[in-house]
Amino acid sequence: MLSVKHISKIYKTGVIETAALSDVSFEIDKGEFVAIMGPSGSGKSTLMHILGVLDMPTSGTYILDGQEVSKLTDDEAADVRNRKIGFIFQAFNLLPRTTTLQNVMLPMRYAEVPEKEREARAKKYLEMVGLGDRLNHTSNQISGGQQQRVAIARALSMDPAILLADEPTGNIASTQAEEVMEIFQQLNDKGHTIVMITHEPDIASHAKRIIHVKDGKIIKDEKIKQYRIKKQIVKV
Ligand code: ADP
Ligand code: MG
Repeated sequence: MLSVKHISKIYKTGVIETAALSDVSFEIDKGEFVAIMGPSGSGKSTLMHILGVLDMPTSGTYILDGQEVSKLTDDEAADVRNRKIGFIFQAFNLLPRTTTLQNVMLPMRYAEVPEKEREARAKKYLEMVGLGDRLNHTSNQISGGQQQRVAIARALSMDPAILLADEPTGNIASTQAEEVMEIFQQLNDKGHTIVMITHEPDIASHAKRIIHVKDGKIIKDEKIKQYRIKKQIVKV
């Protein structure tokens, strides 16, 4: 599904160079649920930006869904993002005073999906995340956990090759965080590929593989034999 090889990212601010990522390589297969974990400043956001084709590496190659995406122009990168990646951000990034249905329909409008289909798909995915009874609530009328579920429905509506989540539970209460993780696990059970950035071990424990980063390098890549679901430990 995706492969990064010898990726480095060097930020230059004036004469100072910061190596945010140094020689990072890994592969993620279709259907995996991977958490990328590490302390603050370890390079997680930098890696997320590269995986999300929001930024290009300084060196190395990145192949996403069979296409090399490490040396693209801004327009090409935007096209890859729209077609391949469903983003879920810490701050939800929903439009305020706009209904959940409209929020989910918006990216499909930009993609020129016919209106009837936009609405049908938006309803389907909102129902999938348990918000079928909140279609006409606006973003400020629902909880943080519900807002994140709207963001998940919005990401799914474009049928992305991967779901890329950056600290998806960072802004929500822990009981609701558990619900969001359950949705991720259910989506993964259905075959969705999920890559999630987090600094919380408790959240990472819901994934099936954890890539640990520190000082811009991978220090450990572990398959999780037992992962958490509904607050129980499930053996797989
Ligand atoms: P994390 O998300 O794990 O906290 P980041 O990827 O944000 O880590 O940052 C990794 C390193 O790169 C840090 O030392 C940070 O200060 C530096 N860094 C991040 N973004 C920039 C930037 N735009 N310019 C310069 N240095 C940056
Ligand atoms: Mg960060």
